[in-house]
This record gives sequence, structure tokens and C-alpha cells, in this order.
Amino acid sequence: MSSTAVAPETAAPHAKAREITHWIGGKKVSGSSGRFGDVYNPATGKVQAKVPFANSGELNQAVAAAAAAYPAWSAQPPLRRARVLFRFRELFEQNMDKFAELITLEHGKVFSDARGEVTRGLEVVEFATGIPHLLKGEFSEKVGSDVDSWSLRQPLGVVAGITPFNFPAMVPMWMFPIALACGNTFVLKPSERDPSASVLIGELLKEAGLPDGVFNVVHGDKESVDGLLEHPDVKAVSFVGSTPIAEYVYSRGTAHGKRVQALGGAKNHMIVMPDADMDQAADALVGAAYGSAGERCMAISIAVAVGHETADTLRAKVVERIGKLKVSPGMEKGSDMGPLVTKVHLDRVSGYLDLGKKEGAELVVDGRDAALPKGEGFFMGATLFDHVKPEMRIYKEEIFGPVLGLVRTNNFKTALELIDRHEFGNGTSIFTRDGDTAREFANNVQVGMVGVNIPIPVPMAFHSFGGWKRSLFGDHSIYGPEGVRFYTRIKTITARWPTGIREGVDTSMPTLG
Ligand code: NAD
Repeated sequence: MSSTAVAPETAAPHAKAREITHWIGGKKVSGSSGRFGDVYNPATGKVQAKVPFANSGELNQAVAAAAAAYPAWSAQPPLRRARVLFRFRELFEQNMDKFAELITLEHGKVFSDARGEVTRGLEVVEFATGIPHLLKGEFSEKVGSDVDSWSLRQPLGVVAGITPFNFPAMVPMWMFPIALACGNTFVLKPSERDPSASVLIGELLKEAGLPDGVFNVVHGDKESVDGLLEHPDVKAVSFVGSTPIAEYVYSRGTAHGKRVQALGGAKNHMIVMPDADMDQAADALVGAAYGSAGERCMAISIAVAVGHETADTLRAKVVERIGKLKVSPGMEKGSDMGPLVTKVHLDRVSGYLDLGKKEGAELVVDGRDAALPKGEGFFMGATLFDHVKPEMRIYKEEIFGPVLGLVRTNNFKTALELIDRHEFGNGTSIFTRDGDTAREFANNVQVGMVGVNIPIPVPMAFHSFGGWKRSLFGDHSIYGPEGVRFYTRIKTITARWPTGIREGVDTSMPTLG
């Protein structure tokens, strides 16, 4: 994705487009850099808004607002911080359809899917409202005579989030609810392709009673990302996006002394064993490969069929289901698949279909031949390749579109090795009725999130989300208990009471003895 991400899509005229604002210090702030990006409605192909790209002055203003708000916010009892999140939760729920519509209109995904996204984000808010419990430390009585010791988790300061286009509400919500609950203040740099949800989040947080400056949004491109990575007042950065940018953010951020978690791209495999319920597996595969037009980091993009009979059956059932998918604007009732996010991305995905054919894979269903809505929208139907081989680029690279590759293997061991050799390790799944195979798979596969008869094993908010290998740079997964660890640092206190005990001067290392 990095190739499409680096250059903002600025070709269309801005004459009548609505202007999106930053959200700084509890207020909407118009962009002043003079640089803008286009925000499309992917279903019509038209520019519907322009988003300002922050310069260093605007970025510094946001960080300064967050730094100024930090002392008072971090000093609040965690329960009070939780109560703001409770109110935000209620307001967010009342505005669920508004969020979902905003997302559908800028991202393209179907309305029910957008509602699902915001629901999953809301679950992290619910988790974060338990912060008084989550911040409870550890206490040891009598680590020495009259000496006790305990550990606390304290916030870091100003922290930043940099997020991708594919979940414009959910991914920011993986970050800021826990960051704020822990007592940090936050600067969000959302994707420039669908930025509106983040400003609405700012407005609702304010309505919920969040003090000004605790949550800020600056829009932008590489310039604002670099500004955050280098700013001395930013203590930690959470990033979610493509692998090349994740790696860059991790190395540049850590080089500037920051704590960084950077989640990257994926190529998620689903193994289908010969004993699986084939209808269940085909249903799951079609949903996981083509839902959100494949623009999910947990989408299944490779099906690994064990045995040729399994592959033939699966292929027939997937083709049959593809024929029933309705590709239409996300706001249209009954739509299964909306458009891709931009024309640049559509062309990129289309390029992979040509490449796959050239590489020798069999193009069983070409999504460009599907019944697509008329007009300028960025639509493409579901695509299926068969006889995909590990050396092909369509196997190795993340396509991030509605493209499923079928790989045929002879046995479970080869299927497992295939997954382990892949550069990415975000999610994976197995469909089988055999407990031994499922257990061996779950215990040994070199991937961070594993499903057994579950195609998209996104952990719930009270667990944590994170891939292995080049799908995550850093030591912490995101949200859940790992989120609390990431957004806090530990302090351990050792204290002697009562005072007045005299042991005389002792220059040796203190020990219990
Ligand atoms: P992207 O990497 O292009 O952009 C992510 C963020 O980085 C955006 O805010 C963008 O403005 C910024 N950015 C882009 N180019 C930059 C550059 N050269 N320097 C600094 N910052 C830059 O990703 P995307 O296209 O928005 O999102 C899709 C990608 O995100 C896919 O690879 C997908 O797998 C990944 N993703 C991963 C997860 C996960 O949890 N692992 C979740 C969602 C998406």
C-alpha cells in the first residue's frame, strides 16, 4: 500500500468541496498550510471534501495543546477519567448511524460493515472504562524488616496515533480510549483518505466532558507524521498501516527516543482440511476474502486447500457464492461489496490481476467482469485465482483488494510450512473437524492471531490485537491489557515505616539478609 499512500491524490479541482478542519484544543481549526488532499466518495468517484495537510506550525499547536492539558488530566482520579469515557460511550452509541454513514461515504464499505466497525471500536471504550481496576498495581508486604514495596502504572505524557484508511473509526478507537483512560493526552493523525470520523470523535469527547486539549486531531501526510515522530514532547506513537511505513515509523520514532508500536500489513492464510464442513468453509472464506472489498488487515487472501479433492470442491463452492455477491454503493440496501477506496488503489489491484495471469495462476473469476454499477465509482467484483504458487508476487505481496488466491497442497505439514515461511504473520485460520490438527496448528503456527473454524479471529477488546513477523514492529500488541502496558510505565516504590530505625552506615548492596 505504501506506493499509493506516499503521494496524496490531488488531481481533481477543489472548487466546491467542503473543507474538513483539524481538531485542536477542543475546537475546529481550519488548515492554514495551503496544502490539501482530496477526499472522494468512492461510490461516485467524485471529490466530496478537501482535507488540510498540517504544517509544522499546526502540528506544534496540537502537541502544545496536548502538553498543556496533560498535568490536570493525568492528575484526575482514574474513575473520573472513566466517567468521561462512559458518557462518550453513550453519545457514540446514539450517533452510531451517523458514524457508519460518514465511513461508508468516504471509505466505500457497506453500511452494515461500517456499523460493525464502530461496534468493535466501542468495545474498546467499554474496556477502557474499567481503568481503575486495570491500573491496580502490585503490593508486597515486608520485603525487609518494616519495609514494603509496590508498583504503580503511570501515564507517559503526550502520545500520538497514526491510522490507516481501512478502519477510520475503529483503529483510532484501538488507541485513544486506553491512552486517555491511563491519563495521557492524545494527538491523532488519521488517514487523509477518510478523515471526517476523527473530527466527530473529537466533538463527542468534548460533549462527554473531556477537557480541551486532551484529544486533538491533525490531518496530513508524511510531513505531519515526521513531525510527530521527531517532536520532543511526544512520548509514544501507535501506528497502524502498511508494512513499509510501519517499519519506517518504528525506526524513526525509536531513534527519537519514543516508545513505538507499529502494526503493518498482512497476507492471511486459511487452511481447509479435507474433513472440514465445506459449505461452512466456503461461506467463511467468501465473507473473509471479499467483505469490505478485501480492504481489511485480517481479510483472508490465501486459501490453502489440503488435497486436490478439497481444492476442487472449495473452488466450485466459492465460485457459486461469488456469483451471488451484489457489488453496489455501500449505502444501498442489500449491497455485499462497495467500491475500493480510490481510483489509484483500484488500478493497483487491477494491475495484480494482470500480473497473476502473467505469472501463470489461473484467473477463475475476474472481478472486472462482474456486474458493476455504472458511473465513475471505484468498483471491482470478487476475483478468484487458482493454482497460486508461493514464488508468485500475487502470493507474496499484500494486494488489499477483493482477490482470493487458492493454493493446493498435499498435506497439513506443507500447508503449515507455507504460512510459517511467509513474511507476514498477522492472522490465520484453519477449518477442520479434527481436534488434533486444530491444536497442532494453533500451538505451532508462526502467526499472532489464530482462528479455528473462525475466519477472522480479531481478538475482543479485553484481549489484545497484534501480528507476528513483519506485521508488527515493537514489543506491544494493541488494545486490551497490552494497550494498558503500552500507554503506562511502571514505577516501583520501596518504603520503610515506621521511621526512626537506626542501622548505622552500610555501604554494601542492601539485601534482606
Ligand atoms: P498506509 O501505510 O499507506 O498509511 C497509514 C498512515 O501512514 C496514514 O495515516 C498515512 O497518512 C501515513 N503515511 C502514508 N505514507 C507515509 C509516509 N511515506 N511517511 C509517513 N507516513 C505515511 O496504509 P493505508 O493504505 O492507509 O492502510 C492499509 C494498510 O494498513 C494495509 O497494509 C493494511 O494491512 C494495514 N493495516 C494493518 C492493520 C493491523 O492491525 N496490522 C490494521 C489495519 C490496516
